[in-house]
Amino acid sequence: MSDPDILISEVGPRDGLQNTKIFMPTEAKKRWISALAAAGLREIEVCSFVNPKLIAQFSDADEVVAHAVTLPNVAVVALVPNFKGAERAAKTAARKISLPISASEAHSVSNVRKTIDEQVAELSRIVELRRAGGATFEINGGISTAFGCTIQGEVKQADVLRLVERVVAAGADSVSIADTVGYANPKQVREVFAAARRIAGAKLDAAHFHNTRGLGLANCLAAIEVGVRSLDSSMAGLGGCPYAPGASGNVITEDLVFMLESMGLKTGIDFAKLLDARRVLEDALPGAEFHGHLAKAGLPKGFKEAA
Ligand code: ZN
Repeated sequence: MSDPDILISEVGPRDGLQNTKIFMPTEAKKRWISALAAAGLREIEVCSFVNPKLIAQFSDADEVVAHAVTLPNVAVVALVPNFKGAERAAKTAARKISLPISASEAHSVSNVRKTIDEQVAELSRIVELRRAGGATFEINGGISTAFGCTIQGEVKQADVLRLVERVVAAGADSVSIADTVGYANPKQVREVFAAARRIAGAKLDAAHFHNTRGLGLANCLAAIEVGVRSLDSSMAGLGGCPYAPGASGNVITEDLVFMLESMGLKTGIDFAKLLDARRVLEDALPGAEFHGHLAKAGLPKGFKEAA
């Protein structure tokens, strides 16, 4: 298998299910993740090691990771909201953990109940845990609400860039930047990622966009234009947004793969198998809302995947 031009990191089993009220049975989660892997997705964020009392959806996180790591050619990622979550992840074979650190103080306090300073300190503790031999995973600092915040409103670019610097200085292996609430526009994306690249160099990793206001794919394209090679997306745009009824959640994997492949950028993903995985998801979550243009319209006549 050759390396893809763009690595798609499927976040549906974490970001999608986190925002879905219906509990997906553990066996269905395993079936879905297996189907995603079979379609060629090489990185999958499979769960969050959040306190199950806060989000019951991830009460089976250990079992889901244990299954996902048996799948060939898949890097298994887990979200950890804090040091405690990282300790739990360390007991599994997850390849990478991602710690969200908000660029908005107000969002940080409401999301992880810690100030930005306290959350950066959590990152340092996780780096120290691994240095001391207590973990082997890669560590990603995921900067959230980097393009605006539903509580604070505007988030200053200078605040985002200072946080990029702090995440790298704390010892993270990579840093990703997220538009958690779907506020970003392509001009802003180009500016933030280009400036972050000058600070983080090769450690600047993935872009994570939400399609809340319909700009998800445009923002992905803007990120690619300034050198981003890893994009997060979610099958069927699963998740939605509690504040925007009917709105799609994350960028839709199927539509993103279509855009990239039709532009000649290889993703390594097989469309027929990707749509098989979507059927597995639809069966597993009856009554949930599924988005996506490609799944409705199908591939254009004579369409060829990138060679
Ligand atoms: Zn998200």
